Amino acid sequence: SKFFTIKTHIEGAPQESMFEIKTQTLPPLGPNDVLVKCLYVSIDPYQINRMKSQSSSQNSVAAASKITPGMTITCGGLGRVVASNHPDYQKNDIVHGIINWAEYTIVKTENMLRKLDTLEFPLSYHVGILGTSGFTAFGGFFKICKPKKEDKVFVSAAAGSVGNLVGQYAKLFGCFVVGCAGTKQKVELLKEKLGFDDAFNYKEERDLKSTLQRYFPHGIDIYFDNVGGEMLEAAVANMNAFGRIAACGVISDYTNSGKHTALSMVDVIYKRIMIQGFLLTDFSINDYNDFMSKTMDYIRARKLCVLEDISCGIESSPSAFVGLFRGDNVGKKIVQIAKE
Ligand code: NDP
Repeated sequence: SKFFTIKTHIEGAPQESMFEIKTQTLPPLGPNDVLVKCLYVSIDPYQINRMKSQSSSQNSVAAASKITPGMTITCGGLGRVVASNHPDYQKNDIVHGIINWAEYTIVKTENMLRKLDTLEFPLSYHVGILGTSGFTAFGGFFKICKPKKEDKVFVSAAAGSVGNLVGQYAKLFGCFVVGCAGTKQKVELLKEKLGFDDAFNYKEERDLKSTLQRYFPHGIDIYFDNVGGEMLEAAVANMNAFGRIAACGVISDYTNSGKHTALSMVDVIYKRIMIQGFLLTDFSINDYNDFMSKTMDYIRARKLCVLEDISCGIESSPSAFVGLFRGDNVGKKIVQIAKE
């Protein structure tokens, strides 16, 4: 089975040459093991924190699930069972959980492997809109941002996997939504196809504080932050009193560990801004069921636009991953490892 690993720990911006493909003979299945043929793997920015060396690791969560050179890269994904020693899984079951950037994965079932509840939707949806990206967007927006109708919402990395869904949920809920992204095409997509009230290309703006003032003359009530850095500083400067910021990700820091955000804490205090970091694992099973049923209904009613960016073949995994940090992806980045 072919699999990917890193050649060395990754510091700064990742490059395709930092990854290598290897071949291994799979060992016999142990008790309760399940052999999965990998079909779709989720390509996620946080993975880079797992690929850094121990010393430069930014937090204990990333440190706990390190990827070291030579080791298979694990990720969220979906596959088909080809052999099973576990009574709950049969050959040909479609399962999702933690698999590898590989053709096959032996899954120890305590690793949260789950059978898919429904085959109503394209399988790839379960890696994106009906998977962790969707749940992060839904939980982060509704539970952390606590929106009210007509709130003014700003989303960064808005054409990305989580961001595009935050914006779409916010519009469906009745908010005013502006997003930012890194290309003209993405900005058009947000306005024309995803129903955002407005959008701008942050790479063309010189002074983000005045940019946000232009798009939000009456201030921002909710900022869903996927990027951190200067955009977070600019958002804080434009927040309304009692505004909420969901700190979802800091992709601008992931490849730039030397730089730190200079947040105005005076603004935070005087405007009583609530900034809350969260992990999707914080949300409850009730939240999950609520997310799944509402999101499936929205998809059936064509009220949510599904934005996927799928590369084909295991060999495309490194470029798919590296592309996240260049802004190559439009919507959820997925690698299809094998045909269904
Ligand atoms: P995306 O699909 O949004 O892909 C990343 C996007 O970020 C790129 O397309 C690019 O778009 C933008 N980007 C890349 N580098 C920078 C930079 N230096 N400054 C600003 N923008 C940049 O990824 P996801 O939707 O999967 O993840 C979005 C964020 O959410 C990430 O920070 C991720 O770590 C976080 N996350 C957090 C979770 C949690 O539980 N808290 C769970 C899942 C994700 P462009 O530049 O064109 O706008």
